[in-house]
Amino acid sequence: MKPNPILNGDQTEIREGDILFDCPHCGKNMAIEAAGAGLMVPCAACGKDVEVPIPDADTPEEPLVAVPRPPLDNGESSAETIRQLDTALAMANEQIDQLIAEKEALQERRAFLEQIRMATSSRFEQIAMELATVQDALDRALVLLAEARSEKPV
Ligand SMILES: [Zn+2]
Repeated sequence: MKPNPILNGDQTEIREGDILFDCPHCGKNMAIEAAGAGLMVPCAACGKDVEVPIPDADTPEEPLVAVPRPPLDNGESSAETIRQLDTALAMANEQIDQLIAEKEALQERRAFLEQIRMATSSRFEQIAMELATVQDALDRALVLLAEARSEKPV
């Protein structure tokens, strides 16, 4: 049984359950199947005998595949984030301006309609007054007509 050297950037030699350890002589990272725990094996790099460590059951295994770290928060990415936020903020402000303009247009439209309604309503009041006058005159004419009829000799 021989350990596999862990090649830089190549994880294909490592399988699930493998024991990962470093050679105490040359420091080379190696992986060996779990059955090799506690055995003396020759180092894949320097050839010296290495005792394969027995994994501690209480210690969770280290993940075999490194989780890629997010890019460092350097000044460039911060500037990019700020630029994106500025763009979003500018768009939001534009939308707010648009909404305010729409609201003002609606208010103007409402005021205009209110003027028309008031003008129409005063015209209707005038017509109603004229009609009342006509109705009064008609009533008086009817009374006169009835009197004229009753006075008419049968
Ligand atoms: Zn070695």
